[in-house]
Amino acid sequence: MTTSRKACVIGWPIGHSRSPLIHNYWLKKYGIDGEYTKREVAPDALADFVGSLRANGFAGINVTIPHKQAVLKLSKPDERAEAVGAANTLWYEGDTLCSTNTDVEGFLNNLDAGVPGWSRNLENVVVLGAGGAARAVVHALMGRKAAHIHVVNRTRKSADDLAARFGKAVTADNWDALSTLLARASLLVNASSAGMKKQGALDVDLNSANPSLTIAELVYDPRDTALLKAARARGLRAVDGVGMLMHQAVGGFERWFGRRPEVTSELRALVEADLAAA
Ligand code: NAP
Repeated sequence: MTTSRKACVIGWPIGHSRSPLIHNYWLKKYGIDGEYTKREVAPDALADFVGSLRANGFAGINVTIPHKQAVLKLSKPDERAEAVGAANTLWYEGDTLCSTNTDVEGFLNNLDAGVPGWSRNLENVVVLGAGGAARAVVHALMGRKAAHIHVVNRTRKSADDLAARFGKAVTADNWDALSTLLARASLLVNASSAGMKKQGALDVDLNSANPSLTIAELVYDPRDTALLKAARARGLRAVDGVGMLMHQAVGGFERWFGRRPEVTSELRALVEADLAAA
């Protein structure tokens, strides 16, 4: 009988995923007999694929766009995945296929590692974006008792919907209020896709920002975004999207392969080299 364990990431398309690089680095580092691959799964094939995971020898999977919402109905989501409305990690407990959202802990653990003490006084926080990543970030920030979370998004309606979902601590604000908001915010999170390689740079003016503002960038391709460059120029503390990408992978690996892996500078160098080569 084989003791080898299998996991994979599914998406549609899936070509861009760095998850295999991260998980295979850990499998090799810890000498674990296992494999982590990527599979392109079209929406109409999702239910069959997820329904036959165990029969096909999988201990679990990561899930990315566009399946993060649909897998909620195909698994037993935990409180976190329910609250965010999306899951990115599935695993078995006995015969039950469970799901969670590790973007929440990835976001928090990356900030805890990079800017210790960042959540000590979260009076005003600004979150850019109102998609799946923004929902995970808002849920994470509410867990750290952020008093006021201001969601600013290109499409105002999505920001309104997000605010309504999470209650009184979260409000939607217009893009032109950003300078005023940043003057008193202690944290700015870019949870929008703006700044990604094939998109335009994110246009945020940090000149009026609170000098103790911390920046959390979620975009990881490119690693060094215009927002991170502007933060450096202003002497602001910041964490990047590569950090979150590595930290969000920890929970899946631990569940499938039985060992909590470390986020190391060696792993970071590997991911950064891969991004630079793409
Ligand atoms: P999503 O659900 O598609 O949401 C995208 C959001 O970005 C929407 O709010 C959209 O606004 C906004 N947006 C898109 N293009 C924009 C532009 N040019 N200017 C301003 N806003 C724009 O995507 P998601 O899953 O939330 O992901 C968002 C970003 O987070 C992506 O870059 C993703 O790679 C990154 N992410 C990183 C990690 C990590 O581990 N580092 C984890 C998760 C996500 P509209 O409502 O107006 O369309």
